Amino acid sequence: MTTPPTALKTFDVVVVGGGIAGLTVAYRLGNQNVLLIEKETQCGGRTLSTNMGSYVFNQGAQMIPGGETNVAKLADELGVLRTLIDKTKTSTYINGKLVAASSDFKYLLGLPIPFVEKIKMALRTVRMRSRYNGIVDRAPRSDDRTFQELSERTLVELLNIKHPDVKGLWDSFSMASSTLRSDEVAAFQPVNTFLHHAADEFYVEGGTVQITRALVDQTDARVETGAVVTEVASIDTGVSIKYEQNGASHQVQARQCVMAVPAPLALRVLHDLPEKKRNALAQCEYGAMSSAAFLVDKPSEYFFGEGVWRVPVVGKTTIGIGDPTFTFPEALKQEDGRGLIRLYAGNAGSQMLQKMSDDEALDVFEEDLFDIFPSARNSVLTRDIKHWPYAICPWRVGRLDLIDDIRAPHDNIHYCGDYTENSGLESAVLSAQRVVSELANTPYR
Ligand SMILES: Cc1cc2nc3c(=O)[nH]c(=O)nc-3n(C[C@H](O)[C@H](O)[C@H](O)COP(=O)(O)OP(=O)(O)OC[C@H]3O[C@@H](n4cnc5c(N)ncnc54)[C@H](O)[C@@H]3O)c2cc1C
Repeated sequence: MTTPPTALKTFDVVVVGGGIAGLTVAYRLGNQNVLLIEKETQCGGRTLSTNMGSYVFNQGAQMIPGGETNVAKLADELGVLRTLIDKTKTSTYINGKLVAASSDFKYLLGLPIPFVEKIKMALRTVRMRSRYNGIVDRAPRSDDRTFQELSERTLVELLNIKHPDVKGLWDSFSMASSTLRSDEVAAFQPVNTFLHHAADEFYVEGGTVQITRALVDQTDARVETGAVVTEVASIDTGVSIKYEQNGASHQVQARQCVMAVPAPLALRVLHDLPEKKRNALAQCEYGAMSSAAFLVDKPSEYFFGEGVWRVPVVGKTTIGIGDPTFTFPEALKQEDGRGLIRLYAGNAGSQMLQKMSDDEALDVFEEDLFDIFPSARNSVLTRDIKHWPYAICPWRVGRLDLIDDIRAPHDNIHYCGDYTENSGLESAVLSAQRVVSELANTPYR
């Protein structure tokens, strides 16, 4: 520990990072003396959205999971409207074919895989639903046998997947939930996402960013944007935080500090970490994702068909394609006459796309779009793209063994963010709740 600098502005709590996790902590701390520091000019992190035509391109998070989840309740509490995504079909694009059906049975029948694989898949799905439904959206616990079971083997091992097309199918789920393929990731994340997809999901009216905007508006904390934290160090009186803003260097002190940034970014600014903590954070590698949106000259339903909101895609750079207009009023869509289509890529695809110019990367997505929907050729009006170098922290096998060290606070520094739970908005909010109770229960040293 270094000697405390004198005469520095002191806060009860400094929160580093203004994504949904950091903002939720700041909001829940009420009228305590809190400073939140965000490096971008706008808070929101991976919840950012932009408008395209009459619609919204959610560049990051696209839906709120579940009606009774903590993030759903938070949206309600903030007065942010959410609409049930009333999907009526299960669908997949595989081997050049878009399969969409209103029942699991018809969907399985339509899949271009051998009959015996369809039977195996049906049995696996039933088993997965009955055995693992209880883990959905729960905080992973290192002493829970079900979480252990899902963390100690890959999805391929858990489901004994052998057929390449079936593996391709599961890859698209596992890449959407973790950015990694089903033979690389622990079963936990894709199983959670698979069970999730069958449950209720909600669209945030105006885009997911409305939740983080409402948090900014309703928090009592002082929020500094365009402020990059460069060093966080424990001192005798608490924590010292240095940041750069508008070309000037600043330093503040806090009795307690909350690191609400992805683990690799936390490691860059924390230098005196206990070895166990450093090792745990160092194993939280992140996968990248890229998302793109195309405004087209016909309503999206023209391409997707009725009842299809999201289509996992097998065997392309694109791992999923969806209809962001799905919950928009029919009258608006008819009057507007246009549609919006969103595509996204997992880690390998995104790494490749990030080496290209935006136009070149959009061309790659556009080729996928035309393969999936040939009638979209000559329909594109405008397009947009967003890369996320730190999109999702995948669970490699054995990750559960690290979870307690990943979460553990030390020397008045606390850790939150989706990676300290699973991944996704619910995990980010869960992590914020844990940190708020840690802050209340940690006597300041
Ligand atoms: C393409 C994509 C699609 C997704 N879809 C969904 C979905 O449909 N549903 C779902 O539930 N989840 C989804 N997610 C995941 C979800 O967006 C994240 O889990 C969640 O937003 C993470 O919030 P967070 O606060 O933990 O982290 P972040 O949102 O990453 O917030 C961290 C913040 O810290 C800031 N920061 C970083 N370094 C510094 C520094 N040195 N100084 C100051 N500030 C700093 C960053 O700018 C950022 O604002 C998706 C993610 C992506 C990328």
